[in-house]
Amino acid sequence: MTEGFETLAIHAGQEADPHTGAVVPPIYAVSTYKQDGVGGLRSGYEYSRSANPTRTALEEAMAAVEGGARGLAFASGLAAEDTVLRTVCKPGDHVIIPNDAYGGTYRLFAKVHERWGLHYDPVALDNMNAVGAAITPKTKIIWVETPTNPLLGVSDIAALAELAHDCGALLVVDNTFASPYLQQPLALGADIVVHSTTKYVGGHSDVVGGALVAADPELGEQLAFHQNAMGAVAGPFDAWLTLRGLKTLAVRMERHCDNAERVVDLLLAHPKVISVLYPGMPEHPGHEIAAKQMRRFGGMVSFRVAGGEAQAVEICNRAKLFTLGESLGGVESLIEHPGRMTHASAAGSPLEVPGDLVRLSVGIESIDDLLADLTQALS
Ligand SMILES: *Cc1c(COP(=O)(O)O)cnc(C)c1O
Repeated sequence: MTEGFETLAIHAGQEADPHTGAVVPPIYAVSTYKQDGVGGLRSGYEYSRSANPTRTALEEAMAAVEGGARGLAFASGLAAEDTVLRTVCKPGDHVIIPNDAYGGTYRLFAKVHERWGLHYDPVALDNMNAVGAAITPKTKIIWVETPTNPLLGVSDIAALAELAHDCGALLVVDNTFASPYLQQPLALGADIVVHSTTKYVGGHSDVVGGALVAADPELGEQLAFHQNAMGAVAGPFDAWLTLRGLKTLAVRMERHCDNAERVVDLLLAHPKVISVLYPGMPEHPGHEIAAKQMRRFGGMVSFRVAGGEAQAVEICNRAKLFTLGESLGGVESLIEHPGRMTHASAAGSPLEVPGDLVRLSVGIESIDDLLADLTQALS
């Protein structure tokens, strides 16, 4: 019997310190380790780019909560993504990406890897025929985000995993929006899970980080080789903060979901709101799939407003308790205009987002205060 999610988040990889009994893994601010004779490693540690005990604790905890064989922690989510591409792909290969991928992910494909000969096609991943049609003999990865940022699109992880494996490709899932508490892609057949731990896993807007979890130990080893060879590792203090956040992920996510549901109710009833994008709504086109593969529907809510871009920008500027800012997944509520902020780099591309769109990261403050702020911002 494996332990429950909350137990793993608090204990996996986090034995009491053998020297002092400290119940929290210390911040090992150290670059190198004394060796007992040439080639005789005392503890398995030799140099902190290759491994550091604080980072190892986070890596083991992430592997446990995602149900994978190997976890790896990086300096950022994009560093983790880059490591996947360099491990799995070579020039001439092809990758399928969501046609509403996170802007920074799109930029990594379009502006960095394409120059090195990696081809990509943005596809609507909720359309299995379109995905099937985009696969080529060179396709190495189907890259999934679900729910997507910022349009909250949902795709079927189990069905896409089957399709990818039928063609000899890997299924990589960016699980940042759902967090491992709400969705566990490896159990649905994915090969690699990607996180920007900057978001819900860290959860307090105080650290930037990324993680990978591989289902298969051999693939995990190849990723670990590239993590060390390329070196974009999480530092010990960042790993410690992220691990501290992970411990409370389950209780935070429950409250994020509670608050988001109330926000959705307010938005649906508001005359200035023309549509609400939230996979928890029965009318959402991905609702059934989301209900099948997610525990609940998360804390991210987007909506489109009457009056176009000017009105959307105005609402973002008027909000007070919802802080105007990029990023998401922290305890504090954030509001932003994706077209001019997080997704500005997708302007003019197939991934451009509508100008009348507002994105909320609903935090865990008192719900009445959040609803009052949205009401005044929309008035
Ligand atoms: C923020 C984000 C990333 C990038 O992560 P960083 O930690 O900012 O590098 C990747 N995917 C999604 C869905 C994100 O929201």
